[in-house]
Amino acid sequence: MRDENCIFCKIANGEIPSRTLYEDDAFRVILDLNPVTKGHALLMPKEHYKNLYELEDSTAAKALPLAKKMAAVMTEKLGCDGFNVIQNNHEIAGQTVFHFHIHLIPRYHDDKQQLVMKPCGMTAEEMDAVRELIAE
Ligand code: 5GP
Ligand code: ZN
Repeated sequence: MRDENCIFCKIANGEIPSRTLYEDDAFRVILDLNPVTKGHALLMPKEHYKNLYELEDSTAAKALPLAKKMAAVMTEKLGCDGFNVIQNNHEIAGQTVFHFHIHLIPRYHDDKQQLVMKPCGMTAEEMDAVRELIAE
């Protein structure tokens, strides 16, 4: 399934050129057009899924092993000092392109980049209530 209006469908399927790092029958990994560090890449399926919620299980099952493989290759070739793997769903979470993708972000001691997560300050009671809500 492809979406005619989706730029990542066109990139993933080679209709729009990209700096491709890896390609197979189901995925393409490309350099991000606006990298936050040297080597910042995007892993995307060739089929169109808006986000993680819509991702087919069989595709999901292949995505993390590929992310792991790319992290190893990129770390070796780039000599980076660490690695972030980030995946955004919906606008509030920072998603701007609505075709599922995983950010592969090499980190360097001197990259001066901040990918910030700050504690929101919940009480122990609130934490207990959250667990009750989610746990099955
Ligand atoms: P999101 O914010 O949806 O998680 O990530 C979208 C990413 O796609 C951004 O980092 C942005 O720089 C990148 N991006 C948007 N359009 C293009 C494009 O046409 N080509 C490439 N290579 N990256 C793109
Ligand atoms: Zn798409």
